[in-house]
Amino acid sequence: MSSADSTFSKPYICRDCGSEVGFRSRRRNFVERFVLRILLLQPVRCGECFRRDYRLIFTVVRDRLSDTPRMSPRKQPSASNRNVA
Ligand SMILES: [Zn+2]
Repeated sequence: MSSADSTFSKPYICRDCGSEVGFRSRRRNFVERFVLRILLLQPVRCGECFRRDYRLIFTVVRDRLSDTPRMSPRKQPSASNRNVA
């Protein structure tokens, strides 16, 4: 679903490499599960350099590939993360 309320949603841009592709990251511990939620933050991982960062929940990021049956109907053989740029 791409209900883009552009009022709040902001594009993700990596601070390191400038990539606009960010993936939702798993919340690892108590802090990330509760404190981040209170602060309206979410853990996000850069799709290019894999830098892990916290962003506002309004930041537009993709779901992790592993658990998005809706988005990618065909399964990709895990992690072909090669950058052929
Ligand atoms: Zn990056």
